[in-house]
Amino acid sequence: MSKYVKVKKDSCIACGSCGSAAPEIFDFDDDGLAEVIFEGDGNKGVTLIASDLLEELNDAIDSCPTSCIKTAAAPFA
Ligand code: SF4
Repeated sequence: MSKYVKVKKDSCIACGSCGSAAPEIFDFDDDGLAEVIFEGDGNKGVTLIASDLLEELNDAIDSCPTSCIKTAAAPFA
């Protein structure tokens, strides 16, 4: 199933778990909070995550202690 993803930054505690699980999708922004970097998404949630990364994405979601990684079947913006 196709997925779009973004980080709800106001709930992120910068633990780094998502970037460890899915380094092609998540990295820290200039404020030290996680954001979606996949194909330059800029945490807008408008870039379709490649199907071969969905397992990593699910691992990242499962590892997030604050459940602030949000997914949708359609672009967020
Ligand atoms: S796993 Fe969740 S809380 Fe930790 S850095 Fe990633 S988005 Fe933030």
